Parts: sequence; C-alpha cells; structure tokens
Amino acid sequence: MKLLALLHASQLVTLAGPKRPRIGKELLDLGIVRDGGMLVRDGKIEKVGPSDEIEKNVRGAEILDARGRVVMPGFVDAHTHLVFAGNRLDDFERHARGETYEQIAKAGGGIWSTVKKTRAATEPDLLAQAKKHANWFLRCGTTTVEAKSGYGLTVEDELKILRVLRRLKADVRLEIVPTFLGAHAVPRELSPNEYLNLLITEMLPRVTAEKLAEFCDVFCERGYFDIDQSRNILSAAKKVGLSLRGHVDQLTNSGGAKLMAEMGATTADHLEQTDAQGIASLKKANVQPVLLPASVYGLGSSRYPRARKMIEAGLAIVLATDFNPGSSPTPSMPTVLSLACTQMKMSPAEAITASTVNAAYSVNLGDKIGSLEPGKLANFVIFDCEDYRELAYWFGVPQTHAVYVHGDCVLNSSRDR
Ligand SMILES: [Zn+2]
Repeated sequence: MKLLALLHASQLVTLAGPKRPRIGKELLDLGIVRDGGMLVRDGKIEKVGPSDEIEKNVRGAEILDARGRVVMPGFVDAHTHLVFAGNRLDDFERHARGETYEQIAKAGGGIWSTVKKTRAATEPDLLAQAKKHANWFLRCGTTTVEAKSGYGLTVEDELKILRVLRRLKADVRLEIVPTFLGAHAVPRELSPNEYLNLLITEMLPRVTAEKLAEFCDVFCERGYFDIDQSRNILSAAKKVGLSLRGHVDQLTNSGGAKLMAEMGATTADHLEQTDAQGIASLKKANVQPVLLPASVYGLGSSRYPRARKMIEAGLAIVLATDFNPGSSPTPSMPTVLSLACTQMKMSPAEAITASTVNAAYSVNLGDKIGSLEPGKLANFVIFDCEDYRELAYWFGVPQTHAVYVHGDCVLNSSRDR
C-alpha cells in the first residue's frame, strides 16, 4: 500500500463537478480549493479538501508540500500525431522565406516527405523518436494524449505506427489513446477509390483484429477525402466498433461538422471554417468540438475557430495541440492556453476546463481522469506558479514543477533537469 499526502497547494484546481463534460457557465467553475490538500492511496485519489482536514489522515503517508504552487489534473491532449519520422525543418524555413505550401509540396516537402521517412523507418527507430516526443508532453504537464497513425498509408506502415503506439504505452508513463487515421491522405501510388477500398477491406479489419485503436479518424477536406468518402470510412469503422473523430472544416467549410453529427462521432476537430449551422448540428448530436489554435498559428493563419459562438451554443469545448511535424510542432498545452485566451477570447478558466475534464470525456476517459476527485486516478501536475491564470499568461515559460501519474512522480524539474 502506498499513501501520499499532498498539502498546502496555493490553489488545488480540482475541476470537481457533474460527471459529464462541462458547458456554458460551467466552464468557468474550476472547483478551486485554497491551501488545498489531497490524499492518494495506491495511485487513486481518496480525499480532496482543505489542507487542515487532509492533515488529520496523513499517518504513514509520504508528504508532498506544494506550498506556493498550483496543483491541477494533468492536461489531456485530445488530438496529436505523436508518431512520425524526422521533421519538416526545410519546409519551415521555406515558409518563413515566403514560399507557399504548393511550392513547398512541389519541392518535395509537405506530408509526403514525412510519409516517405516514416515508411523507411524501422519500428525501433520510430519508437525512439516517439519516446522523445512523449517526454516533451510530460514536461509540458500533459499526462494523457490521444495519438493517431496516418503517416504510413500502406497496410503494414499504418499497423507499424499503431504498434509503436502500443509499445510506447507500455514503455513510458504518458497515457496514450490510439486512433487509426489511415484516411490522412491518399497515397500517391493509388487512386482515391483503390485506397478507400484498401482502407475499408484490409486496414480496418487488421487494426480491429489486433485491437490497435479505439478511435477512427478521417481528414475530410478538398483534395483529401470528400464528404461521401469520409462517410464510407466512418461507417465502416463504426460497424467494427471504433468510436469516431474527424479532421473537418479546417481549410474549407465542406459540411464536415454536419457529417460528424450525422455519424454520431465523439469529436469534430479543427472547425476553423465551421458556420452557425455546423455549430447547431454539433450541439444537436452532442459532438465535442476539439479546437487546435496552435495549428492555425503554425500555418501563419489568423482564421481561428469561433470558440465563443461554440460556448454560447452550449458545446462541450475541448482544446488540444494537434502536435505534428507540419503545421503544429508543439506538444505544449500551456502554449495552447495562451492562444485560446489571446486569439479566441476564451478565459483562462474556460481554457483549463477544455484541456482537462472536457478533453478526458472526449477520449472516453471522463470517469477516470480529467479532474481531482475521489475515485479518479492520481494524474496531476504541480506548477511553479500561485495562480492558475499564470499558465496562460506567461507564455513560453516552462512552469512544470513535477508530474504525477497514478500517484508516482514521473518527472520533477529540480531532480530531472
Ligand atoms: Zn490533426
């Protein structure tokens, strides 16, 4: 038996509340306990409250003094492309010089360069790079990520990426929810219909037979997969028992939000171009929007999704990094909080709810993580600040002091530096 008593947090940000994603004014209620404490037994939260109450039960416990620091649930990053080979440094430099994405793709850059490198990489190589990424997430205060395949685009290479995710899950303390995104792009060697057929008749059955994914995702966009093709893929995935997510309405408003509502998807992601009608259909079907402001920033765009309209409409909004080598090379949820507040006019409290408890529900883990409440896993982060708003305010400053997963200290900035 292992007993841990955390005491004297300047703010214990519990996010305690109804057992469902938060909407409207609920997003503002962080359930903060000042001079807060928490009792953790065998990796699970047993008691949460003012320190003087928790202190009555600490006999035999390891004491963790969080004086002068904010303690909150680990971030849940609900949209990442964690496994890929190499980087896009050349593309980054070309874009900085003013070249367009079309020019960069013609010069051999863009997603194809990452697909080529990922196909060429061995499983151990991919795993080694993925471990480096996983460690970045932990250092930013993230304890759970959703992670997608999508840079293989052949049966074997997509399975390879998902197997790397499974190995990673066993090897690191970051918790991982795997998503099959074979429909990230049509590979150059096949026609769209040939690839769709391969995806539905070969990839999906193998992915489900090996239990390699919990979700299926699709990139629904002009030049990638249109509404009908996306519907075919998602219907097939639903039939074999996968839950659904989708990259929709990022560059054009193609009615992707409406499609995700029609399919009963768990989330609709991106939504930069989604209009009032799209927002209304998401609400009707209870689909959670996953907003990715770091990819808008990374692309040098200023067209952020309409977060305020979505909150007003009563959507259970989620924020995520979209960590990937092309448009969003950041694993940092604090950076996303800053962008949410400055560019999408969310309040720091709304942004924190969207990246913890709401994000947890969006990966089907709302009953286990996302808030600090009795019965939940002790996945929490101690930050070097006294007020939770500082996380969104001091952008670019690493404020992670220590990270705990299942009650174990997996990272301590003073020890691991
Ligand atoms: Zn993405």
